[in-house]
Amino acid sequence: MSILTEKIKPSATLSINTKANELKKKGINVLSYAVGEPDFDTPKHIKDAAIGKILEGKTKYTPTGGIPELKDEISKKFKKDNNIAYSADEIFISAGAKITIYEALLSVINPGDEVIIIEPYWVSYPEIVLLCGGIPKFVRTDENFEINTDEIEKNLSSKTKAIIINSPSNPSGAVISEKTTRKLADIVIKHNLYIISDEIYEKIFYGNFKPVSIAALPEMKERAITVNGFSKSYAMTGWRLGYVGAPKDIINEMKKVEMQTVSCIPYFIQYAGVVALQGPQDCVEEMKKKFEERRDYVVKLARKIFSCNVPDGAFYIFPNHSDYSKDSIRFSGFLLENAKVAVVPGIAFGENFNKYIRISYATSIENLKTGFDAIEDALKKFKQ
Ligand code: PMP
Ligand code: GLU
Repeated sequence: MSILTEKIKPSATLSINTKANELKKKGINVLSYAVGEPDFDTPKHIKDAAIGKILEGKTKYTPTGGIPELKDEISKKFKKDNNIAYSADEIFISAGAKITIYEALLSVINPGDEVIIIEPYWVSYPEIVLLCGGIPKFVRTDENFEINTDEIEKNLSSKTKAIIINSPSNPSGAVISEKTTRKLADIVIKHNLYIISDEIYEKIFYGNFKPVSIAALPEMKERAITVNGFSKSYAMTGWRLGYVGAPKDIINEMKKVEMQTVSCIPYFIQYAGVVALQGPQDCVEEMKKKFEERRDYVVKLARKIFSCNVPDGAFYIFPNHSDYSKDSIRFSGFLLENAKVAVVPGIAFGENFNKYIRISYATSIENLKTGFDAIEDALKKFKQ
């Protein structure tokens, strides 16, 4: 097999969810808190729009990088929500945020270049960097999952090309403060770097913890690659629709990669994106309200058992289970076997997080109650 693909791991989040689904198919009643996917249905007006376009026969190739109608809506969205003025030629649409991160990194890094990744990180960042021939450099957050910009500076080298940030964060739920975002911008400018800002959870924040887009800060538009998508905000994970805003020269490189691989995204999928952005936004607000209720509920349950931070965004808790075990794979295996609950071992998010598990609360309050009752029961055995 190729040296490049041999180096990379499968996605822990997707693999564990598949395993939980296989157990369910065998009749074993497993509750999965493993995958980061809203449990809500895609809003009906969005589904109807796509079906309408299929019936109209809009089923042919589309322009690589996105249809003008969707680029136009995304441009308005960037202006309104993020205060960034991206024109159509600074916007690129592809099959989900994940592949746009890959295409963006492939466009800016050379083999051997280093990319700073904040730990705990979303499972795909290091693997995407490796696939692009780059070298991931990990920088830890503090105990509250806040970024320490001094630590980032200490880890820069002449080979550092980019930093990846994610706010709200998967898995910690932390939102990067405006002050830290400004400090990050200073570093990026001073050291002539790129920054990839993964804003996929931007709509799911609680209270005043609204995340700030780094591209909106002075001198940052030409250095930032702003990643977003429809998966989380509009419960559209399976539609595979994501986008970036970035300088034109980067977009042009990304387009070449897309042309020679994916080609383009179906019209009816992109049209669903147009309707999602143009239509009423109450569905987004309603989902966020539900996530907030669940966050409050699950943190209370988790704190009876673990030490657990209160996340400010996204839909994960990332509790520390060191009172029971210092091995997150073993601990997750125990929970799956004895409580029939699937969670993701913390080690998947960074080698320093082997005493943590990630629990997605994108599931009903009833499911959370059932699962946590089972975890509490199972842990009585674990202690003996
Ligand atoms: N970034 C983060 C932090 C995520 O959690 C996810 C979840 N899949 C993605 C990107 C990718 O989203 P998409 O479904 O748009 O590829
Ligand atoms: N981002 C989600 C997660 O972390 C979906 C799975 C994936 O894309 O890896 O669970």
